[in-house]
Amino acid sequence: MPTIDRAACEAMDRDDPLAPARVRFHLPDGVIYLDGNSLGALPRATPERLARLVTREWGDDLITGWNKHGWVELPRRLGAKIAPLVGAQADEVLVCDSTSLNVFKLLSAALSANPQRRLILSDSGNFPTDLYMAQGLAALLGRDHRLELVPPEGVMERLAEDVAVVMLTEVDYRTGRRHDMAAINERARSHGVLTLWDLAHSAGAMPVELDRTGADFAVGCGYKYLNGGPGAPAFLFVARHWQDRAQQPLFGWFGHARPFDFDTSYAPRDGIDRFQVGTPPVISMAALECGLDTFAGIDLQQVRAKSLALGDLMIRLVEQQCAGFGLSLASPPAGAARGSQVSYAHGHGYAVMQALIARGVIGDFRAPDLLRFGFTPLYLRFADIWDAVAVLRTVLMQEEWRRPEFHQRAAVT
Ligand SMILES: *Cc1c(COP(=O)(O)O)cnc(C)c1O
Repeated sequence: MPTIDRAACEAMDRDDPLAPARVRFHLPDGVIYLDGNSLGALPRATPERLARLVTREWGDDLITGWNKHGWVELPRRLGAKIAPLVGAQADEVLVCDSTSLNVFKLLSAALSANPQRRLILSDSGNFPTDLYMAQGLAALLGRDHRLELVPPEGVMERLAEDVAVVMLTEVDYRTGRRHDMAAINERARSHGVLTLWDLAHSAGAMPVELDRTGADFAVGCGYKYLNGGPGAPAFLFVARHWQDRAQQPLFGWFGHARPFDFDTSYAPRDGIDRFQVGTPPVISMAALECGLDTFAGIDLQQVRAKSLALGDLMIRLVEQQCAGFGLSLASPPAGAARGSQVSYAHGHGYAVMQALIARGVIGDFRAPDLLRFGFTPLYLRFADIWDAVAVLRTVLMQEEWRRPEFHQRAAVT
């Protein structure tokens, strides 16, 4: 394969149909940001929107803002903006709570919809909070529900008549390995197994087809590829035919049919709204809306094509420039089997990442030994990948990671 130089990367940037989207974001000078899969960058529109919300809507209009500024409709309005990103109808998606809480609510709803079965199936690569939620729910239900974990490659084969619900994260947060959602949904359906997908590393990074592939339930994250800001609210999806049949366990007043009757008995609202719990966090929702608006007019097929091209470029450049320094590719080399990130194992992964960050190349580290680089097609350039790999080469060649300050662990990695 011919070697690639920086000029070739610049030429790719000139041909990139998504290049104009970069100005929608604030990106600090001197930083190459390869961690938008953990916390999306700040949209340029967000600071002004939040200032207006706080000073005018809240400051001047006080409680009248709930009606006057449509605050009360935010969970549905934002859900409708997420729907096209995940292949759902506008009335199948709701923005509320955190991903963890939404896993709990929907897993419980799925178990209630498949009452003869007790088994929750997941894979050993799933994100821990999803597994913890399942363990906590099983303990709370106290009716012999249990969680079984199989390796990711073993999920298809394990789908059988004893499984109530299969709960999977489509794209593995560590390796970027991607499940075949269409195939799993089809096989699950043929065995009477319900599906619950976590789209934390899919929504906004690639097209998702929840309705077309027949998914039952899904959750996703607002602060990763959706650019909603730290701790942004999450979203949930409930296929329309389940909305009035599956019961979620947290009877909050925002899920009540008539919250302002202040009735002492719970009666669920119709449709997706019954999956709301309490008062929506209006300021966080406004920030998330700015994040969602960065997708206005964006073609998700182009997002996916660029995401894979960025990943392929990184893999090739690391092969070219960093061979012999102890890195081994931990992600699927084939794009179709990969999400929007590339990970490498390295014996001193944590310190290598700290040394990269000190030089302005921000990725992250995932235990035990993974360097993780995420690709956000709306604001990354091909030349950024070239520059990042050049820095990686320097850090490894000069063994900068040996410096003691790069070995001190912070609370968040
Ligand atoms: C980031 C992430 C979460 C985060 O859940 P929170 O409740 O927002 O902390 C959950 N699941 C997956 C797969 C994630 O990647």
